[in-house]
Amino acid sequence: MTAPVSRLLVGTDADQGLVSDDANWLQWLSAHTDAGWRPGEWDGSLWLFTGDLDSDRTAAWRCRTPGCPTAARGFNGRCSSCRRARAAPGVCEEEFDRAPRRRPTRPVARGGCVVPDCGGELHCRGLCFRHERAWRKAGGGPLEEFIAQARPLIGTEPCLVAGCGRERVTRRGLCRFHGNRLQRRCNPASMSHEELAAWVADEKPRISAHQFSLAGLPELVRFELLYALQQRDEAPPPLDPLQVRILISRLDGASSLRHADPEAVCESGGVQYNSAIKGLFRDLRRHLERAWTQCTGTDPYAGNVWRVELLDLQSNGSRRWPATKGTIDFGPIELPWLREVLKDWARNTRPYLQGLRQALRACHVASQTLVACGRADPASLGAGDFVRIEQAIVEQRRTDGSPHSASHRTQLLRLFCAVVEHGRANALMTDVPDPFRPPQRRHRVIEDANEEQLGRALPDMVIRQLDQHLDLLGPAGRHGSMGAPDLQAMHQTIYQILRDTGRRPGEIVSLKIGCLEVIDGQHNLIYDNHKAARLRRRLPITTDTAEIIAAWQRHRTQLPTAPATRQWLFPSPLLRFPAGPRSLDRLLRRGGVSGLDALDSQDRRRTAGPRRGTAAVRSLADHPICAAAQLRSATRRRRRARRCAQRVT
Ligand SMILES: [Zn+2]
Ligand SMILES: [Zn+2]
Ligand SMILES: [Zn+2]
Repeated sequence: MTAPVSRLLVGTDADQGLVSDDANWLQWLSAHTDAGWRPGEWDGSLWLFTGDLDSDRTAAWRCRTPGCPTAARGFNGRCSSCRRARAAPGVCEEEFDRAPRRRPTRPVARGGCVVPDCGGELHCRGLCFRHERAWRKAGGGPLEEFIAQARPLIGTEPCLVAGCGRERVTRRGLCRFHGNRLQRRCNPASMSHEELAAWVADEKPRISAHQFSLAGLPELVRFELLYALQQRDEAPPPLDPLQVRILISRLDGASSLRHADPEAVCESGGVQYNSAIKGLFRDLRRHLERAWTQCTGTDPYAGNVWRVELLDLQSNGSRRWPATKGTIDFGPIELPWLREVLKDWARNTRPYLQGLRQALRACHVASQTLVACGRADPASLGAGDFVRIEQAIVEQRRTDGSPHSASHRTQLLRLFCAVVEHGRANALMTDVPDPFRPPQRRHRVIEDANEEQLGRALPDMVIRQLDQHLDLLGPAGRHGSMGAPDLQAMHQTIYQILRDTGRRPGEIVSLKIGCLEVIDGQHNLIYDNHKAARLRRRLPITTDTAEIIAAWQRHRTQLPTAPATRQWLFPSPLLRFPAGPRSLDRLLRRGGVSGLDALDSQDRRRTAGPRRGTAAVRSLADHPICAAAQLRSATRRRRRARRCAQRVT
């Protein structure tokens, strides 16, 4: 990174300040974007991204129809053209694969003319537009003969539409695709130069499922998007061209991504699209805000209120991506010396955001305690004050008056001690007398119950009923790359492991392929306790449970799953990334838990209450969710029926 470009802060003329801000910002962005990004995929001259269908870093795949060159939206899925071609005659997947009846479409991928040395672009029959026309004029004889005697042509200028890049073939300077488009709208001959220019400026290049184009966007937005996408691309998840396209379509004339309306960008599609777009938009904005601080030379750690998106801190041990939302306000800590020590600790040790918030809480309690007993002067502090603070932290209660868990209070104590030790070690507490420091023997609040015991999360009543109707559990339709029988088997396995182990839903859905271990005939389940950040825990399980898991493992090997989900025992059929802790919830909601009407309302009420796995109980037994999911699938069925009827008439 080069030195930040200093911002002009001259005069009181706000408009002028804005203009020079934008100019500097654009200059900074263009200096910090990587021209060599994603070679083979990113074409900087056309501002066009074409995803590599074989790359794990791009969320685009080949259509599963043999011989189809078009990209598909999901792994093992079909392109829209093949999907339609299969649905219309209603043939089954396997039958269609044996004899695909795809409608021929103009290739989206570019190619060259087969006439040796011809500079023309592939149009059809292997020939460029001009050669194909010449061949037809000549009577359309054998192609080989025509090719053998044809003379190569020089390639023409590209189409006028920004980012199109295809060969110009019409008199108005358009490619075949855009020429046809214009013709469908009006008679090109009757158009004035100005009208044509306005039409061209509004047009977008023709792109396929695995592409996105930044051409045609305002220059600043284009550079902001490119810079932020490049920054985001440094780590997973894979780049999804469709998401970028949706995002672009929702920017709606914004002059800068930094000032785009989050409401308009994140809330204008269906739920499923919004959540993905929200994640993408927030992340891109985070990168841009961080870049903005670099560009303007602002210190994100200055002042008492820090913006989380600028700090690049992970939320916690199991959420390994930077947090984006909210602020951290050091203002409530009244004692200036303690506030400065805490800020220095946060800045230099880079804790998880969760840890930082806990340390803030502990320091707030400490500050309140000292102020309350008249110890605001740091020079007056002694060992007794430290004990007093510890006591106050141990006695912390929630807003409803109930005590916090022992582990939470122990954690607050530990963090407060860490902050004070940091202050001592870095000579930030020279005003505070030496006896004010953590004691040798650490305070520990009463032991928690053993986390790792085999527990039972679901109430017996629910278990009895679910077991009776086990064969009905799971969605009735296919999702993504998985068919209904596979999805049902997966849901049933997840339920049975939840039932038998009492683990949290997030711990079950994040099991890896090799999660079973046998030591001296005893089966263990290896799982990650995300909540307490204890990874690879071992839980003894019964032979029956082990057999359920092993049976699914065998079934799992037969499933077609995307490379990115190979390590997971329960691959998500819709997500292209490894299953997250909320996947179970998502799976159950999306799929709809059919067959759970059997649970009567009384039982559902009994399932309420703070138990581990309440989320699972909610997903499994809560009627509104089932009803909503069933309603959704019923609506889908109705829509499909309507579409079929339209096609027939
Ligand atoms: Zn296809
Ligand atoms: Zn040619
Ligand atoms: Zn064009």
